[in-house]
Amino acid sequence: MKNRHYYIYIAAVLVIAGLMVAVALSKRSQSIEHEQSQSVEQASKTNFIMDTVVEIRATGVDAESAVDAAFAEMERVEKAFSRHLQDSVVTRINQQAGQWVAVTEEVIVLLEQALHYSEISNGAFDITVGRLIDLWGFGTGTNQVPSEMELDEALGSVGYQGLEIDADANRVRIPSGTVIDLGGIAKGYAVDRARKVLEAKGIKSGMIYAGGDITTIGAKPDGSAWRVGVQHPRESEELIAIVELKSKTIVTSGDYERYFIDDGVRYHHIIDPESGYPAQGVISVTIYGAQAVDADALSTAVFVLGMDRGKELIEGLPGYEAIIVNQDGNIWVSSGLADRITLL
Ligand code: AMP
Ligand code: MG
Repeated sequence: MKNRHYYIYIAAVLVIAGLMVAVALSKRSQSIEHEQSQSVEQASKTNFIMDTVVEIRATGVDAESAVDAAFAEMERVEKAFSRHLQDSVVTRINQQAGQWVAVTEEVIVLLEQALHYSEISNGAFDITVGRLIDLWGFGTGTNQVPSEMELDEALGSVGYQGLEIDADANRVRIPSGTVIDLGGIAKGYAVDRARKVLEAKGIKSGMIYAGGDITTIGAKPDGSAWRVGVQHPRESEELIAIVELKSKTIVTSGDYERYFIDDGVRYHHIIDPESGYPAQGVISVTIYGAQAVDADALSTAVFVLGMDRGKELIEGLPGYEAIIVNQDGNIWVSSGLADRITLL
């Protein structure tokens, strides 16, 4: 008898366990159905961030809220790294020049990237050009050609070697009198961050267009590559090339983006840290690669280096390609880009 009871008991336990598994499985299949029934959306929104028109497109489940979150992230990055906003970390570092300033790891990593590009470009890329940018009036609104004396004086505050990063203690220090400006790298960083937000939300097809900085997730919804135009440096309505992108980025630096003309001479916003004057020789540089933060720093660096030294830097960097236009309108395309570009 005892044994019989025992078997009934086991059978009951097995039946209950079986029911539990069945319920769990049916719940699971319900939740899969639920996901499948959520419709795939195409979202596209435009905003004005970082002094430029930003368009974000995404296709996927909840694409619209993913796009909103990506914009929010770009706004956060702008608030952190603009030196024209009162409570940004860059403003704090500049205001407390000469003293150590506590910063987050995010700031340390971006400043380390900026220093890396200073080093590999022999100082052509240098975020300590802030006082020069101010003298020329870029960012402040009133442009003027500074005097030699003013330039000489400001040049004394320029030099990436003066930027100290204490990664162990999460603090940074710039020399008293130095002003940093992340305008040459922050937009690329913001674009990367926005892309990562979209990816984290499950978006498999998307594009972020922020002025000259464009990054893509996967291919277009129809599976073909994104086709992105490179602006003609002198005819704003024309393109010089179309580049095909799949999960890649292009970033362009041009002398047409911010400039003024004085006495027939064009003065633009990309400054040669050696002379203090706008860099001469090339008028547009487009960098193709994986991360926008790197492409952004490189586009500014190659612009300052000019055609010959710029070519050399790019050909020595695996994963990064370039289109360089010199002042005579000659276009150079690096070897790795040939099969992804159509010159117009
Ligand atoms: P981009 O359009 O990316 O080439 O960046 C140009 C911006 O970078 C300027 O508006 C300045 O804020 C900053 N900048 C100018 N010259 C330099 C330089 N030589 N190195 C680093 N940043 C620079
Ligand atoms: Mg740049």
